[in-house]
Amino acid sequence: DASDRVLAYVEKIVSLEPIAGADVIEIATVLGWKVIVKKGLYAVGDLVVYVEIDSILPPWPYFINDKLDKCNFRIKTIKLRGQISQGYCIPIKELLNHPNKKLTPVYCVDGQVESGLKSIRRLSDPVLQNGDFDYSLEIKSNMTELIDQPRIQNLPLYPTTYAHVEFEVTEKLEGSSVTVYHYKGVNGTCSRNFELNFENCQKQSEIKDVLVDKMKLYDRLDKLNLNIALQGEFIGPKVQGNIYGILELCWRCFDIWMIDQNRYATHAERVDIMEKLGLPWSDYGVPYLGTYKLEGKTLKDILEMANGFSQLKGSKPKVLREGIVFKSTTVENNSIITFKAISNQYLLKK
Ligand code: ATP
Ligand code: MN
Ligand code: MN
Repeated sequence: DASDRVLAYVEKIVSLEPIAGADVIEIATVLGWKVIVKKGLYAVGDLVVYVEIDSILPPWPYFINDKLDKCNFRIKTIKLRGQISQGYCIPIKELLNHPNKKLTPVYCVDGQVESGLKSIRRLSDPVLQNGDFDYSLEIKSNMTELIDQPRIQNLPLYPTTYAHVEFEVTEKLEGSSVTVYHYKGVNGTCSRNFELNFENCQKQSEIKDVLVDKMKLYDRLDKLNLNIALQGEFIGPKVQGNIYGILELCWRCFDIWMIDQNRYATHAERVDIMEKLGLPWSDYGVPYLGTYKLEGKTLKDILEMANGFSQLKGSKPKVLREGIVFKSTTVENNSIITFKAISNQYLLKK
């Protein structure tokens, strides 16, 4: 399940750099992340538990001061003395010696923290959280596990490993993920984690309104009769703050899962399927920003590229985009290589 995504893992301190004018803090690099840490607390090569941004840590008798230690602690992107910091490091040594054994992490070889930090919660999608959802059988496992995009900061080797792969770049829209499928003659709609039951809830009937009534998606899928799942972002008033200021709810496709082939469609296949559905990509797809190769690029280049204004049609001007998503335009081992780069400008403004 996407919400069971691992948020804390054991990693090494790759490097430590001073911050001009700062006496008590310095910058550590963990994977591709820059994290502010207490000066002198770590040496290069030390193992730490790295906690990702967008995590909420449980009350924790370690952090900063007594008051904060008693609250849930939200990890976000911050800027201190002109330096971006993303995530939080906890020294393993300290944890292992911690008197409260419940907080002691047990970690396995691949670096994933197994227990102790399990009560870390994820800041999750508020839109379709509540309501009476039908828990779906096949769909849940088919659709929702595929959805999480890895962050480029967790994949420092990608520019080397995939130097020569061509990637499609699209804008990452800030909304709520809604999947519409056609499988063995049956249509259905799912939120990130659940199959929707349109009768039961207001939010869900708004989704039906857009997808089934306005876009006639079920009719179009019936006609085309392919076993596919269209994944799209639902955006508009009241969805994730509607950063685009658009006046009507709408849905923009970002991926197509080809159920029989057991893989995602390439850019070309996706555009073709949308065309055949009578829903051209330029109107019903997420904004397309071109193709890109990672050869010779650094993490910094990729993160800089993520900054920019939204290209969504109908958006108010100069809206900082959430980020960009890379997907290989070719199939490698029956799968598409994909990752996201979230805009740090956007994160800091949020
Ligand atoms: P949450 O807001 O719940 O943390 P997220 O948006 O951070 O979720 P990720 O797994 O990080 O989730 O990113 C993948 C999600 O981004 C998709 O499920 C989809 O909802 C959304 N998305 C928006 N635009 C795109 C795009 N162009 N390509 C792929 N995914 C996109
Ligand atoms: Mn997220
Ligand atoms: Mn999102």
